[in-house]
Amino acid sequence: MSDPLPETAVCIGCGYSLRGLSELVCPECGRAFIPGERTTFKEDGGRLSWRRWACEPRAWHLISAPLLTVAYLCCSTKPGGLLGVLDLWALLIIPAGMLLLLILGIDYAARVVAITADRRRASLDKAKQQHAHWLRWFVLPVCVAVLISAVISLWPMRIRFHLSLKAFEDAAYSVQSGKDPGELPRQIGSYRVIDVRLTQPGDVFFLTGYSGLDRVGFLYRPDDQKSGGAYIRLAPCWYAVMY
Ligand SMILES: [Zn+2]
Repeated sequence: MSDPLPETAVCIGCGYSLRGLSELVCPECGRAFIPGERTTFKEDGGRLSWRRWACEPRAWHLISAPLLTVAYLCCSTKPGGLLGVLDLWALLIIPAGMLLLLILGIDYAARVVAITADRRRASLDKAKQQHAHWLRWFVLPVCVAVLISAVISLWPMRIRFHLSLKAFEDAAYSVQSGKDPGELPRQIGSYRVIDVRLTQPGDVFFLTGYSGLDRVGFLYRPDDQKSGGAYIRLAPCWYAVMY
């Protein structure tokens, strides 16, 4: 029987030579191939098959998605979010982060499509099932869910602020009772404060940074009525603001 396999055909999975086998399965890794379908094996100098996408997300995917998520969460613990932390760098870093997220999404979708298309060949595999790998499919969806929840509810800033609330309250009360704001410590709770000032009667503004030309920080407003637009309510009488 003539073997339509090219001389240089090797296994896509492990690179083992597939010539002269009695079974249509790689003896080394158990991956099935179909001699008549050139995308089911690899050839020297041949084009890379789309079937190489038919596997779980790779290491770079599993590392970069959580890193991107953690970086965003850290930046979003301050008023003004990324803009407040990175200022002009944000113009570069935000599009880069979104591009990375897009690439991760395309990579993920391509793998889902490839696995679906490769299902018939994969059903012939004799490889042992690698059970642990299915967890890899959860990494990107979980990261995206966390990112979306952080963008919508601002929970990283809310948590960090609540952990520092007592220190901010003490600082606001001391300014209201006549203490010179300049004498306050620059570290209040977990936040570095650039400036503290009494604004309208009774209001105390804690400047934590700049977002372009805007000042961002926390506002203590005992008359707890004001809200909307640039005011994000964090606790009774406390707001994250952008002026
Ligand atoms: Zn193999």
